[in-house]
Amino acid sequence: MIKRIGVLTSGGDAPGMNAAIRAVTRKGIRTGMEVYGIGHGYKGLIDGDMRLMNIAHVGDIIHRGGTVLKTARCEEFKTDKGIDKAVENINKAKLDSIITIGGDGTLKGALELVKKGINVQFIPATIDNDLGYCAYSIGFDTAVNTVVNAVNGIRETGMSHDKTTIIEVMGRNCGDIALMSGLAGGADAVLIPEVKSDIDKIIDKIKEGISRQKKNSIIIRAEGADISTEELTEEIKKGIGEDVRTVILGYLQRGGSPTALDRNMATLMGSEAVRLISEDKPSTAIGFDGQNVTLVDLKKADNIENKVRADLLELVMTLA
Ligand code: ATP
Repeated sequence: MIKRIGVLTSGGDAPGMNAAIRAVTRKGIRTGMEVYGIGHGYKGLIDGDMRLMNIAHVGDIIHRGGTVLKTARCEEFKTDKGIDKAVENINKAKLDSIITIGGDGTLKGALELVKKGINVQFIPATIDNDLGYCAYSIGFDTAVNTVVNAVNGIRETGMSHDKTTIIEVMGRNCGDIALMSGLAGGADAVLIPEVKSDIDKIIDKIKEGISRQKKNSIIIRAEGADISTEELTEEIKKGIGEDVRTVILGYLQRGGSPTALDRNMATLMGSEAVRLISEDKPSTAIGFDGQNVTLVDLKKADNIENKVRADLLELVMTLA
């Protein structure tokens, strides 16, 4: 019997999703499977939006950000009616397994399908890197590199004008982008949602810099930190007695050509998902530890808490 599999991308788009779609499609076809691309995430499952993929459909996409399958946030999928419709369409199309590519919400959705008896292989892809069961998710490395490039530019103009700059980056619940780009970008301080901010300490750090003629401090604030960018700007302005610039990076952090790390992770995890299906393995949350693919029972993955490297906040300030 020829195996039939479906692949979808869901939630926020992340650079490297296309490399995962390519790996799943080509490895699947070359392993003798039929691969169906499902459009717009779980919405496509509800709408029956599926098409048979061939090798050429995923040509020339390994280097592109976004997702050629499109993605969506689908509230209907959170309802019993929505899930039942999706399961009905999976069974109608005779799909043996679904590969879902996305973040923590997508993982929760995958779990609902598993509860209905569907085999699901999950591939983590979110720039937030907020999945506790794995060290890296697809898109995180690219997003951090995008932020670091922006910090490099801001550092040059800040240096020329002797200006402190606050840079707001993505991360409503998880400070990983702020933390890792702060470390790599040589920031003076980082604010993240997981840790209470110490504004006085940050002001003292900037003043210490000013006292040794360093007048272009860079503060990186994750959008979910406990003080807003506006309030932080006002507090720092008052504290140092000088003007402060603010930059909100916004959606540009989602775009861009994926880094080699994100492409290779996506490729290895996509290939692993197909192997698991070909060997009739149970539903799995696939991960990556920096070098190798890791595997966790999908039912357990959602319960593993995400831990932040809060110690790195101190290191950022020590090295500034
Ligand atoms: P990102 O981290 O980039 O935001 P994500 O996968 O976490 O990605 P969400 O919008 O949270 O993005 O989730 C994607 C989709 O997964 C939702 O739009 C919804 O269709 C489905 N989903 C989320 N939570 C649940 C849930 N509890 N039950 C069923 N489906 C869910």
